[in-house]
Amino acid sequence: MSSTFQAAVAFAPNAPLDLQPVTLDPPQTGEVLVALKACAVCHSDLHYISGAWKTPLPAVFGHEAAGEIVELGERTNSTDEELRVGDQVVVSLLRTCGACPACTRSEESLCATQTRLDERSPLRLLEGKHKGTRPFHGLRTAAFAEQVLVARSQVTKISTALDGELACLLGCGVLTGFGAVMNAATPAEGSHLATIGCGGVGLNCIQAARLTKPTTNIAVDTSEVKRKIALELGATHAYAPAPALPAEVRAATRGGADFVFVAVGNTHAMSLGFDMLRPGGCMVVVGMTQEGETFSIDASMLATEGKTVRGSKMGDASLQRDVAILLDLHARGLWNLERLAGERFPFQNINKALDVSRSEGTLRSIVLF
Ligand SMILES: [Zn+2]
Ligand SMILES: [Zn+2]
Repeated sequence: MSSTFQAAVAFAPNAPLDLQPVTLDPPQTGEVLVALKACAVCHSDLHYISGAWKTPLPAVFGHEAAGEIVELGERTNSTDEELRVGDQVVVSLLRTCGACPACTRSEESLCATQTRLDERSPLRLLEGKHKGTRPFHGLRTAAFAEQVLVARSQVTKISTALDGELACLLGCGVLTGFGAVMNAATPAEGSHLATIGCGGVGLNCIQAARLTKPTTNIAVDTSEVKRKIALELGATHAYAPAPALPAEVRAATRGGADFVFVAVGNTHAMSLGFDMLRPGGCMVVVGMTQEGETFSIDASMLATEGKTVRGSKMGDASLQRDVAILLDLHARGLWNLERLAGERFPFQNINKALDVSRSEGTLRSIVLF
């Protein structure tokens, strides 16, 4: 069944999105069609829309979503999560094949297996001068649309009574922040932890850090609003970035942080974060810069102080495993999703949602369908 619905299409860099009637191919083996309830706006979407990150156009972006399954292709293998029409699901850009070397090593977020969805967009424009064109399936999801066609591995069931409006947040930012701490770092109880950048990812580093019972849980952000929320969510200290910050952090932590999480795509933040580490400390970078950007560190610190820098793609997350953990934590009152959510916008006002997301100090804008 191939139905017609609305998608917000990017036709040119840095132009408002255009609501257009589109259709999707029916789901094939290993695929699922989801009618969306909500999609949050992530900074990756904004970078593609502005043209700062290169992408084919026209395109449909959006990748942090939740909704209800309306149609299913066959399961690829018996280890796939069992899904049914009517299931409420989180939809993510994380796609895994379960069989490649990365998946076999349990490094699912590094799975690079191409599927037919990568080879040919399942979307098709139905009107205007681009009629018949297949807009690019942005971030492997194209969730600024009433429906998405994705791989079954890109969805996971919502096992608790959580509304899609909040569940969508689990598709990218929450997962990445949680995973940076719980999968990439796994700090021991009583550690000294610091997070640079308290947006949709960093606030979740702070929340995950709190669960590990740290001695210090430092939040760094330029925005006073974000620093305040970080303190509400478990930060013990909050600072604005400044050249003197590494010295302040070393004083607050008696020698430096065990782990620094960099949740902003900013190379100055990475240099700053490295200087905040104790000897033997580790900086985990989840913030995404543009391709080709470099940052400098005092190289002598690697061999003389045993500091490490570790990158983490989406917090080394496994969508099925980590969303289940997060849903359980939320149900037990141990994970705050409500405080992460900003203004809600009807789909017709998606360009307003994008504008609000561009201004500093705002929480995650959520588009409702
Ligand atoms: Zn994202
Ligand atoms: Zn794989």
